[in-house]
Amino acid sequence: MRPFAYERAADKASAIATLAGRPGAMFLGGGTNLVDLMKLGVAAPELLVDVSRLPHDRVEALPGGGLRIGAAVRNSDLAADRAVRRRYPALSQALLAGASGQLRNLATVGGNLMQRTRCVYFQDVTTPCNKRQPGTGCPARSGHHRDLGIIGTSEACIATHPSDMAVAMAAFDAAVHVEGHAGARVVPLVEFHRLPGEHPDRDTALEHGDLITSVELPALSLAARSRYRKVRDRASYAFALVSIASAIEVVDGMVTDVRIAFGGIAPRPWRAWRAEASLRGGPATEEAFRRAAEAELAEATPLPGNAFKVPLARNLLVRTLLDQAGGGAL
Ligand SMILES: Cc1cc2nc3c(=O)[nH]c(=O)nc-3n(C[C@H](O)[C@H](O)[C@H](O)COP(=O)(O)OP(=O)(O)OC[C@H]3O[C@@H](n4cnc5c(N)ncnc54)[C@H](O)[C@@H]3O)c2cc1C
Repeated sequence: MRPFAYERAADKASAIATLAGRPGAMFLGGGTNLVDLMKLGVAAPELLVDVSRLPHDRVEALPGGGLRIGAAVRNSDLAADRAVRRRYPALSQALLAGASGQLRNLATVGGNLMQRTRCVYFQDVTTPCNKRQPGTGCPARSGHHRDLGIIGTSEACIATHPSDMAVAMAAFDAAVHVEGHAGARVVPLVEFHRLPGEHPDRDTALEHGDLITSVELPALSLAARSRYRKVRDRASYAFALVSIASAIEVVDGMVTDVRIAFGGIAPRPWRAWRAEASLRGGPATEEAFRRAAEAELAEATPLPGNAFKVPLARNLLVRTLLDQAGGGAL
């Protein structure tokens, strides 16, 4: 690991100002991803500005019924929060499906959103990787890509975003609050992570020095009956092959509202807009759920090693919505 300096941010203004003048500086949350990347030689910041102790460590009720989640809230605390468990259970389930207890005790909301792909070529500095070193190529296409993306990918990159938490947030129309030296702004979570296109090195809509201060969840009554399901190689301590966050409201056999997002299949949490549109106003039947999944996945471009994710994602959507629409326990 290259030598680096460490500072604990006194407040958000000084944290933002420090990064604005230092291209080689990075924010530090719990360090569970960034420090690993530093050990691997993928990241080499000269200065870490620790933002994990800023007073963005609360989950607060918003007027009108939503929640404001501070960027420094630890993943364990968010998963255990009573309001989250009662009103957005898929978010709590997604967090608990990720990493391990020790990691969740350290990991922060801001760091979780900003964590980088687990693509083995990205993490191995002895191999080319367009995300790590633009223009060097993508060996994953002809190499190991079983865990990688089937939709939203590009010729340059097929990496997936690994966060479970962000998938639930995407389903609930979360908004990411950001402050930088140019001021404050709000980025919808579904637009926060970029699709790779020609520039897979840029993961998110943030500029250098932008600090995530909170994530807001709007009031959404449907979310109280939401679920998160994750398919993975091991029952715990493994990233998703495919995951889903969903909520559905059915009245007299018809779908009145629905939210669906996938994880593990795309460079960002994949909000299933097409599946939702195909379901709203129609019957809540297995056939309709299957058609919705097929509409969503029609543009998938899987490779030989990850083509299994297409039927897996379809079956996961059908099974999960059937369980939810029937009111059955998962
Ligand atoms: C063995 C292992 C298994 C894991 N399994 C899973 C899993 O199954 N599912 C899952 O979702 N995750 C998993 N993770 C990833 C884990 O969730 C992330 O490492 C963690 O959420 C990152 O949060 P952090 O606070 O530690 O971020 P850090 O490592 O501190 O930072 C990550 C990035 O976020 C930036 N950052 C931090 N805070 C802010 C902020 N406020 N504003 C702007 N930028 C910021 C940093 O500069 C850095 O670029 C696993 C990790 C490990 C090591």
